Amino acid sequence: MSGGTIEVVDLTAPLAASTPILQLPPPFANTINFGLEEISRYDDRGPGWYWNNIHTGEHTGTHFDAPVHWVTGRDGDDVARVPVRRLVAPAVVIDVTDRVAADPDFLLEIEHVRAWEAEHGPLPAGGWLLLRTGWDARANDQEAILNADETGPHTPGVSVACAKWLAEEAPIIGIGVETVGTDAGAAHSFEPAFPCHAYLLGADKYGLTQLRNLDRLPPAGAVVIAPPLPIVGGSGSPIRVLALVER
Ligand code: MN
Repeated sequence: MSGGTIEVVDLTAPLAASTPILQLPPPFANTINFGLEEISRYDDRGPGWYWNNIHTGEHTGTHFDAPVHWVTGRDGDDVARVPVRRLVAPAVVIDVTDRVAADPDFLLEIEHVRAWEAEHGPLPAGGWLLLRTGWDARANDQEAILNADETGPHTPGVSVACAKWLAEEAPIIGIGVETVGTDAGAAHSFEPAFPCHAYLLGADKYGLTQLRNLDRLPPAGAVVIAPPLPIVGGSGSPIRVLALVER
């Protein structure tokens, strides 16, 4: 790193009250926005120091989904129990930006992954599949990132068959996306609903959301460091995701 041959790329969205969050329709309960609550700032409450309380959901901003987040993984690991050796891992990037530009409801299929593998080699054992969609361009705008109309949100994701295959057959530890959740906007209507969550978390795999700067990673060869906070019993955690890229 000091010699300049390894670049550190930040894949994380800044965490602020304005950071977009996912929104479930009624009757489901929703998460809160991030919030900063000042305790003191070099004033009567603490003359020499500045500090805050933070208010956040586990699934706010760039965050990590643990197996226990989904009912299919209810007996799996929470964020504090995820083995740390799995959290420094190789990553590949499948770029579907062009397809998503033409169709915001684009779904990654097994054949897209197979075509990528034919060009770049097999998916990495114990590694991440990062799905580049161009959706990070919408990362600062709650309405644009959800892209909802009267039929619901329209955002890219993974098909049911591909999610099942990634969970049960592919050697990856999880999937990372640029959207607010690992599933497509229309995935509430899939069978099963939210297949990325249902299949991957149920198979002791993980999710990463609201990533950015995936365009600065090679198709293969990066190493991603993605450790969630060890929230005891936690289903997820806001996270700083870093990639190491050899130049
Ligand atoms: Mn989540």
